[in-house]
Amino acid sequence: MSTTAASALHTGGGCLCGALRYTVDGTLIDAGYCHCRLCQRASGAPVVAWFTVPFPAFRYVQGTPRAYASSGLYQRESCPICGAPLAFRRRTAPDYIDITIASLDEPALIAPDYHIWRMSRLPWFETADRLPRHDDAGPDQA
Ligand SMILES: [Zn+2]
Ligand SMILES: [Zn+2]
Repeated sequence: MSTTAASALHTGGGCLCGALRYTVDGTLIDAGYCHCRLCQRASGAPVVAWFTVPFPAFRYVQGTPRAYASSGLYQRESCPICGAPLAFRRRTAPDYIDITIASLDEPALIAPDYHIWRMSRLPWFETADRLPRHDDAGPDQA
């Protein structure tokens, strides 16, 4: 794991237009870069940095997200007005939720610990870190 893992979070964030706001009160599980094609298409960016907390730690405090069933049992939640991607979780009975680090009010608070789905990494995108790099979902992922 990492220096950031298992730390208590009491923070919040929201979308670009401000219609959606959330709070996070709970234990940070981990954080990482996802290079998968779904994240690329959902965000329009080469990579998305996510952090993961237990589902009960996350709560929308303003607005209602638009949910899109992007794969299998999972959905992506974004702002219905500005389109900002905020969360990724299992549609039913989620244990965990992934939240976009950049949507935090203080995004520098959490740094990624690993890279996953490097098989979809864009050849011109590389970060200058020594974090573990996984071609697929990695050892910690379901
Ligand atoms: Zn918005
Ligand atoms: Zn992804």
